[in-house]
Amino acid sequence: MKKTLLSLITLAAVTVASADVNVYSYRQEFLVKPMFDKFTAETGIKVNTIFLKKGLVERVKQEGENSPADVILTVDISRLQQLVKEDIVQPLKSETIEKNIPAKYRGDKWIALTSRARNVYSSKDRIGKLGEDFDYLDLAKPEYKGKICTRSGKHPYNLSLIASIIAHHGAEKAKTWLEGVKANLARKPQGNDRKQVKAIKEGICDVSLGNSYYFGKMITNEKHPEQKEWAASVFINFPNQNTTGTHMNVSGAALAKYSPNKADAMKLIDFLTSEEAQQMYAKINFEYPVKEGVKASELVASWSAFKPDSISVLEIAKHYGDAVKLVDEVKFDL
Ligand code: FE
Repeated sequence: MKKTLLSLITLAAVTVASADVNVYSYRQEFLVKPMFDKFTAETGIKVNTIFLKKGLVERVKQEGENSPADVILTVDISRLQQLVKEDIVQPLKSETIEKNIPAKYRGDKWIALTSRARNVYSSKDRIGKLGEDFDYLDLAKPEYKGKICTRSGKHPYNLSLIASIIAHHGAEKAKTWLEGVKANLARKPQGNDRKQVKAIKEGICDVSLGNSYYFGKMITNEKHPEQKEWAASVFINFPNQNTTGTHMNVSGAALAKYSPNKADAMKLIDFLTSEEAQQMYAKINFEYPVKEGVKASELVASWSAFKPDSISVLEIAKHYGDAVKLVDEVKFDL
């Protein structure tokens, strides 16, 4: 009898120790799985992850108060703000977060975990390295007529850049600029950031817009070695070094409104802000850590030191709706 009781107690203890945290993630498995494994090894808290490509918000809303979601991982300030707008997340605060994440990378109901630059890639053969004085505004100049490739103007990466142009220069100037960029497109917006670099390699265009980490992913791509050749055909450029700085966006985390395992969920979020996890973001996916003092990967650091735009992500988010309208107005994708 005594023995049975003891094993019951042991069983209860084990159940508590192995409590789960449920993550809904737009971030991919190759990146977050190693971090979650480390977290589990250190804390005994198991992490269940649902990887989604779309419909995350709809799903959490549909699940309502019964949603098993604890932590939501996503990219882009627009998507983080959407979680707030749709009222599916709650305030998240901890000493660890306040210590690790600078205030400009925190909202009430989300935190940024990494940042990434929106670069301009240029053909080595036909354009060369762009000068320090190169500005995003230059993409509207006649000299780039028929030379620019980009993904859809409606993609959050481009909307965020356009929103930052509105923030810095006003709606009117931003419109003239975007019309100019459209007039310079080599083809209809299509594909992802990497496919634009492929198009440069193939001679379809000479410059493209793309996030910084894709350069690292192409250079080191053993699974698709042809991407190394795409990357080898371009320079990575950090625009606006003499003016506002290179446009930056973020990836981040939020705590689900009805998180059933809130305490452990916060432990996981705290962990993602730690030096250890921040280094993993830098090494595995070539992103810029937001925790001060954590360095970018060696490869990323080798590209060049640069001045990032210091505007807050929340300021950019304010102009996001206008950016969407502008893309429609100038029929950017048509
Ligand atoms: Fe991406």
